[in-house]
Amino acid sequence: MDCIFCDIIEGRSEAEILYQDENIISFLDIRPVNYGHTLVITKKHFDNFLSIPPNELNYLMKGMQFVASAVIKSVNADGFNLILNSGKAAGQTIFHFHFHIIPRYLNDFRFKPDFKRYSDGAIKEFADKIRSELNKQKDSFYG
Ligand SMILES: [Zn+2]
Repeated sequence: MDCIFCDIIEGRSEAEILYQDENIISFLDIRPVNYGHTLVITKKHFDNFLSIPPNELNYLMKGMQFVASAVIKSVNADGFNLILNSGKAAGQTIFHFHFHIIPRYLNDFRFKPDFKRYSDGAIKEFADKIRSELNKQKDSFYG
């Protein structure tokens, strides 16, 4: 399997590694949105947010909190975004699940999506569809 992040974990590719333990590893994104833009990944390969087991996600989230706190302090950021892109349509380009920690400063730039409005009654239709799917999946998800 060809995966640049697995290569970094195995030491076959270089990265500016910030932190690692037995479960996760964190390193600087080589094309930062802002300086200090950091990635945090599990050492085990999972393709995306939906395929990562809950215990691995827990390790990752705990590590995220630890690393984000240090990154933000180190670069004197005013805030930060945590971003995960799941799937090509969402901008995922490396299919080894990862979170971005992006330091932010007041007035640095804006994410500007084209916000939509629900037409009359449509918000309930969307909510009903999603609630129905949640009910279908609930037992298998929570066991
Ligand atoms: Zn990988």
